[in-house]
Amino acid sequence: MAILLVVALVVALLLAFFRSSIWGWLTALAVLVPMLAMAGRISDEALKTVIILLGIFIAVFGIPFLRRLLVSGFILKIFRKILPQVSQTEQEALDAGTVGWDGELFSGNPHWKQFLALPKAGISEREQAFLDNEVDQLCAMLDDWDISHVRQDLSPQAWQFIKDQGFFGMIIPKAYGGLEFSAQAQSAVVTKVASRSGSAAVTVMVPNSLGPAELLLHYGTQAQKDQYLRRLACGEEIPCFALTGPFAGSDAGSIPDAGIVCRGEFGGQQNVLGVRVTWEKRYITLAPVATLLGLAFKLFDPDKLLSEQVERGITLALIPTDTPGVNVGRRHLPLNSAFLNGPTTGTDVFIPLDYIIGGAERIGHGWRMLMECLAAGRSISLPASSTGGVKLAARSSGAYCRVRKQFHVPVGKFEGVEEALTRIAGHLYVIDAARTLTAQAVDRGEKPSVISAIVKYHCTERGRMVINDAMDVHGGKGICLGPDNYLGRAYQQTPIGITVEGANILTRSLIIFGQGAVRSHPYVLREMHAAHDPDTKRAVHEFDAALFGHISFSMSNAVRSLVYGLTGGLVIGVPTEQPTKRYYQALTRYSAAFAFAADVSMLVLGGELKRREKLSARLGDVLSQMYLCSAVLKRFEDDGRLESDLPLLHWGMQDGLYRIQLAFDSVLQNFPNRAASLMLRAMIFPLGQWRKPPDDHIGHQVASLLLKPGEVRDRLTAGMYISRDENDAIGALEASLASTLACEPLQAVLEKARKEGKIKSREEMQQIVEAREQGLIDSEQALQLQRDYALRRKVIMVDDFAAEELRAGK
Ligand SMILES: Cc1cc2nc3c(=O)[nH]c(=O)nc-3n(C[C@H](O)[C@H](O)[C@H](O)COP(=O)(O)OP(=O)(O)OC[C@H]3O[C@@H](n4cnc5c(N)ncnc54)[C@H](O)[C@@H]3O)c2cc1C
Repeated sequence: MAILLVVALVVALLLAFFRSSIWGWLTALAVLVPMLAMAGRISDEALKTVIILLGIFIAVFGIPFLRRLLVSGFILKIFRKILPQVSQTEQEALDAGTVGWDGELFSGNPHWKQFLALPKAGISEREQAFLDNEVDQLCAMLDDWDISHVRQDLSPQAWQFIKDQGFFGMIIPKAYGGLEFSAQAQSAVVTKVASRSGSAAVTVMVPNSLGPAELLLHYGTQAQKDQYLRRLACGEEIPCFALTGPFAGSDAGSIPDAGIVCRGEFGGQQNVLGVRVTWEKRYITLAPVATLLGLAFKLFDPDKLLSEQVERGITLALIPTDTPGVNVGRRHLPLNSAFLNGPTTGTDVFIPLDYIIGGAERIGHGWRMLMECLAAGRSISLPASSTGGVKLAARSSGAYCRVRKQFHVPVGKFEGVEEALTRIAGHLYVIDAARTLTAQAVDRGEKPSVISAIVKYHCTERGRMVINDAMDVHGGKGICLGPDNYLGRAYQQTPIGITVEGANILTRSLIIFGQGAVRSHPYVLREMHAAHDPDTKRAVHEFDAALFGHISFSMSNAVRSLVYGLTGGLVIGVPTEQPTKRYYQALTRYSAAFAFAADVSMLVLGGELKRREKLSARLGDVLSQMYLCSAVLKRFEDDGRLESDLPLLHWGMQDGLYRIQLAFDSVLQNFPNRAASLMLRAMIFPLGQWRKPPDDHIGHQVASLLLKPGEVRDRLTAGMYISRDENDAIGALEASLASTLACEPLQAVLEKARKEGKIKSREEMQQIVEAREQGLIDSEQALQLQRDYALRRKVIMVDDFAAEELRAGK
C-alpha cells in the first residue's frame, strides 16, 4: 500500500510538472484509484461504490459538454459575482499594448532559446551617421549652465538647429519629411543628448513621445496627417499634449475638462457643428511655446446632435494655440530644468468637429488611444534619458575619483568610495541592457505595456540611486553649481523622471503587477473576458478552456517551484554553458515560483489584491528584476560573451537575483493569510534563502573598470556625448584622467625627490621647476607635469561668483 501511495504521488507530481492535459489526470485516476482501493482491502460493496463514483467523476470532467454544464458553467457564475469591478478606463488600460517577454516570465518556463534568438539590437548606418554628426553638433552647442541658469531656455541657435535637423520628427515617416527613425535610434539620440543636458533631452524627446505626432500617425484622418505631420517634422509647429490638470494627476481618467457638442460660429461660418471646450491643465511640457495643443477632455452631447448617447467619454483634439480663447505662455520651473513647461487653460473655446483626432469616429476612444501610445513612448523616452544621465555620472565619477586624491591616494581607491562606484557601474550595465532590449521590442512592432512600466520605473529609480552615489563620491565638487558642475543639475532634475509618465510609486504599486498579473498571465485575461462576455454559451466554452489550462498551469508551477528549489535549479535545461548557465536556471526557477505565488495571491485575495498595493508592488519587483536580469543576459550574449565584461555580468545578475529573493521574502512575510504564506515559503524556498548580494571581490573588479580608460569603460558609456575640448568640464576631466595615468611615473619621481628632500617647495608647480633644474626630469616631462597639474586643478576647482553676478542671474 505504502509503495502504491508513493507511486501515486510520483505520478501526480509528474503529471503536474509536465502540465498534463485533463485526460492524463483522468487516466491516472482510472488506474490508480481502483488499485489503491483494492490494496486497501475494502469490501466488494465499497469497491463497487468507489468505481461508480470514479466513473461519474471521469464522465463529468472528461466529457466536455458535461464539464461545461456542471463544472465550468457553475464556477463561471461564482467568478462573475466575485470578479472585481473594472472601470472602463482600467479595462482600456488593460487591453492596451502587447505582451512580450513579460508573458514568458509569467509562464513559469521561459523559452530562453527563442529569447536569445532575437536579433541583436542595432541601428542603421543613416541613424548612426545622424548620431555621429547632427547629435554631436547639437551637444557641442549645448551649455547646460547657460540653459538652466542664465537663459532658462535653450539658446535660439540650439532651438533652430533642433528644428532644422528634424529632431522633432524622429517618429514621423520620411514621406512627411520626418526622419522615420527606429525606436532604438530615438533612444540613442535621447541618451546622447541627455548625457549633455537634461533640459535639451526633454525638449527633443517630448514631441517624439506621446503627443500630437504619434496620435496623428496612429489615429489621425488623412486630412489631419496631411495638414500637420510635415509641419511638425520640421519644427514649424511646436506640439504639446495636455492631459494632467490640478484635480486629475495620477488619476488622469477623472479629468474634469469638458467639451459640449453644439453649433457655433467658426472661421466666419455660422452654424458649424463643433465642440465648446473648457479646460484647466498644468505641467504641460512645451505648452509655453506650443503652436499646436493636443488636448484630452470628456465629451458630452446633451442635445444629442451626434447620437443618442449623451456622455461620450474621453476625446482628444488638436487645437492651434492661436485659436481665440486658448491660453498658453506661462511657465512652471521644474527643479531648475529649463525645458519649457507650463499651464494651459481655455473657457468655452469653440472648435469644429474635425479638430478631433481621428474625426467623429474616434470620439470617446481617447483613453485607449493614450494608453496604446503610452506603451510605446514610455518604452523609449525615460529609459533613454535616465541612461544618458547615468552614463554621464558613471564616466565622470570614475574619472574624478581617479584624478582627485586625498591622503595621497586617489579617492576611488578607498573601499568606501569603491562601494559607491561599483553600484554606479553595475546599475548602468543593467539599465542600459534593459533600455536597448525594450526599444528593440518596440522596433519589432510590440507595444509593451507592462514592460514599458518596468523600464520606466527601474531606469529612473536606478538613475536616482546612481546620481546620489555620484554626488557622494564627488563631495563638494558636485554641490557647488556653476558651468564646471556637470552633476548638480542632473541630481536636481532626477525627480522629474520619477514623476512623469506615471509617477513611480503608482507605477510600482498599481501597474507593474496590478496590470501585469492580468495582462501578462497566460489565462487570467481570458477568464476575465469570458466573464464579461454576454454570450453565455461562448463564455462558458472560453472559460472552460482557460480555467482548466489555468489549473494545470498553477499545479505545474507549484511542483516546479518545489523541485527547482530542492535542486537549486540544477535539473533545468538551458541553452548556454557557464558562466551564464546557472543564471538562466535561477531565473527559470524564480519564474515558476513567481507564477505560482501570483496565482495563490489572486486566489487568496481576489479583488482585494488591487488594494493590497504593498504586496502587489513586491510581486511586481520580482517580475521587474526577472526582466532586468533577462536583459543583462541578452546583452552579455549579444556583446559576444566578453571576458572583460564578466564582472559586470556577475554583479548585475547576482544583485538582481538577490533582489528577487528579498522581494519574495517581503511578500511572504506580509502575506495576509498565514497558512498560504507558510505553504508558499515551503514551495519557493524549501532549502531556505541562501542567495547573497555580489561580494566585495566582484565589487572591486566592477569599480576598477570605471577608474581607468579602457574598452570596458568605453563600452559601458558608449553613446554618451564626450567633449574633447579641455575648456569644457567633461573635456577637461577626460584629459585629466588620461594625463594622470600617463604622469604616474613622473609623479613617482617627484614623490621620491620630495621624500629624499631633493625638492623643497610645497607648491606643486614649483616642485616641477625644481625637479627640472636638478635634472630629475627633462623639459618635455616638466611641461607634461605642468599640463597635468593645470588639468587637475581645472577638474578640482568649483565655480564662485560675485554677489552681483548672482543677482544678475549670470
Ligand atoms: C515636469 C513635468 C512634466 C510633465 N509633462 C506633462 C505633459 O506634457 N502632459 C501632461 O498631460 N502631463 C504632464 N505631466 C504630468 C505628470 O504626468 C503628472 O505629474 C503625473 O501623472 C502625476 O500626477 P501628480 O503630479 O498630480 O501627482 P499625484 O497624482 O498627486 O500623486 C502624488 C503621489 O501619489 C501617488 N499615487 C497616486 N495615486 C496612487 C495610487 N493609486 N497608488 C499608489 N500611489 C499613488 C503618486 O505616485 C505620487 O507619488 C508632467 C509633470 C511634470 C512634473
